[in-house]
Amino acid sequence: MPIVSKIKPTWSPAVLSCVLLCGGVMGIAISPLGAQESSTPESVSGSESAVKDVAEGADGDKVEKDATESKVKEPEYEPKSKAVLRRELSTMQYKVTQSEGTEPAFRNLYWNNKKSGLYRCIVCEQSLFTSETKYKSGTGWPSFYAPIKADHVGYKDDHHFFYTRTEVHCSRCNAHLGHVFNDGPQDKTGKRYCMNSAALKFFETGRENDFED
Ligand SMILES: [Zn+2]
Repeated sequence: MPIVSKIKPTWSPAVLSCVLLCGGVMGIAISPLGAQESSTPESVSGSESAVKDVAEGADGDKVEKDATESKVKEPEYEPKSKAVLRRELSTMQYKVTQSEGTEPAFRNLYWNNKKSGLYRCIVCEQSLFTSETKYKSGTGWPSFYAPIKADHVGYKDDHHFFYTRTEVHCSRCNAHLGHVFNDGPQDKTGKRYCMNSAALKFFETGRENDFED
């Protein structure tokens, strides 16, 4: 990402904070950085059938199952108390998932992760996103244009900012994940799922079900 690499060192914390808070607004200015590559997944694995699943499944039409997706298993999950989560999660992971916090742009684990694989919820390990829908947004947070399955995430209006944003959370454990904006790749869904790395746990292709170990 050469453009962002040049820009990044000159950004002050204040500017980064603005980007942090103004994700939707800044996205208009930022999106051209990623626009040229927006239709190209960061990894080069597989087909687009997982996306078709989301797009077509949402309309109630035929649902195509991707070979990769069909191998993905969902672990059992027993809801955990806040006290247990405080012990098991890092400070940032807890702040993001339980208090709707936001981690710093660029200084997080997966914003530039180009490996092929699966992103699960850090709390309950439900599958959420795959590298096939991850794209370079230029924002400094991992960005996807669709979840692995439409019903694996939930939404609610977020009024914490001067305009209403759409908050995204794990549909199984309610962990806050990030927000979704309408400035995603226009040749795909047009959505930008702006996620916090701290809410995710990455499993490389071939090791999607390593939670079973
Ligand atoms: Zn979860």
